Amino acid sequence: MKVLTPYDIAAVRADFPLLRTTVNGKPLIYLDNGATTQKPRFVIDAIQQYYTLQNSNIHRGVHHLSQLATDAYEVTRNKLKDFIHAEHGHEIILTAGTTHSINLVSTCFGKAFVKEGDEVIISAMEHHSNIVPWQMMCEERGAKLKVVPIDDDGVLDMDAYARLLNDRVKLVSMTYVSNTLGTINPVQQIIQMAHENGSPVLLDAAQAVQHMAIDVQALDVDFLAFSGHKMYGPTGVGVLYGKEKWLNAMPPYQGGGDMIKDVTFEKTTYNDLPFKFEAGTPNIEAGICLGASIDYINQIGLDHIAEYEAELLHYALEALAEIEGIRFIGKARERSSVISFLIEGTHPYDVGVILDKLGIAVRTGHHCTQPLMDRFGIPGTVRASIAMYNTQEDIDGLVAGVKRAARMLL
Ligand code: PMP
Repeated sequence: MKVLTPYDIAAVRADFPLLRTTVNGKPLIYLDNGATTQKPRFVIDAIQQYYTLQNSNIHRGVHHLSQLATDAYEVTRNKLKDFIHAEHGHEIILTAGTTHSINLVSTCFGKAFVKEGDEVIISAMEHHSNIVPWQMMCEERGAKLKVVPIDDDGVLDMDAYARLLNDRVKLVSMTYVSNTLGTINPVQQIIQMAHENGSPVLLDAAQAVQHMAIDVQALDVDFLAFSGHKMYGPTGVGVLYGKEKWLNAMPPYQGGGDMIKDVTFEKTTYNDLPFKFEAGTPNIEAGICLGASIDYINQIGLDHIAEYEAELLHYALEALAEIEGIRFIGKARERSSVISFLIEGTHPYDVGVILDKLGIAVRTGHHCTQPLMDRFGIPGTVRASIAMYNTQEDIDGLVAGVKRAARMLL
């Protein structure tokens, strides 16, 4: 089978300097994209350009450089608005990443709307960053955390979800795509059911935005969280999208510069959206350069990326299935380009170490989803996660590497 590429994959690969590196004397095969993606020259150049030509603090100075940096930062906000089809630019809060975004909502939404006896729903496949903030908030406010179970294929039990919805449920927070199983959740249905119950929904889109087009208005989702570094952009920046009505109804997260209108020792009035939630000097460089990564993705087109990654995933699943003793963790029909597996009789860590010797970067362990590992009764998995620059040859290398690891370990 020859995987067809709807874009010039050689040209795309050439844009990513680190893909040309060698590891242990072998050409790198980078399949840890779920953890973070590599960066194109376009983004790296933007970072250099920022420090050489624009560096200044934003939203403060009247001087030329400050205006330049502020404009560039706000251009990114606007690009993000278009990227996820938000109605307003001020519904885009620039944060440090998905974790920060979810903590912001759990804290501020919790303060405004959650009281003793209330409930929050998550799922059994959540990343720790979509579990722990809710646990902390529920503990503080005397609320209960309810968990939607999954089946053995890693698919959400929607009947159980329906049964959990009741008038105590103040919010539903679910992952769009599982970082461990690759499952794409039926988010439209999840949101519709929650809304019929009067509950808003937060989607953790950390593993979704770089793989598929998202329209927050069509989804009617209330909050959406994602990270720049998983979408070919810099680390230290991410996004919280929130519907204006919710963001306005929530108190600020942190106090400090930028989030205020007026301060006296007696009383402070808070700034308007989005600045109310953006206290202090942000990661300006990362914020500006996230705009470059969006330009890069748009230039290739998310539809093309989704089409190609789906083909490559299909090829990889078929090729890996030939390996003796392989057990896939996560077999949902609707899935994204994450493959978790175990080789019978081996520990995932040992497989990962041998793959590394061969220049193949995969993730091993619990992938910040310990409760999910407990659900499957396993300590961890080997996880290969695909990005738009991976090739059929990368997958062939992975399959050969896993076969070799199995031969060495068994
Ligand atoms: N949610 C999911 C589904 C993730 O995959 C990750 C990153 N592994 C996160 C949240 C946390 O993202 P970050 O570390 O960038 O805040």
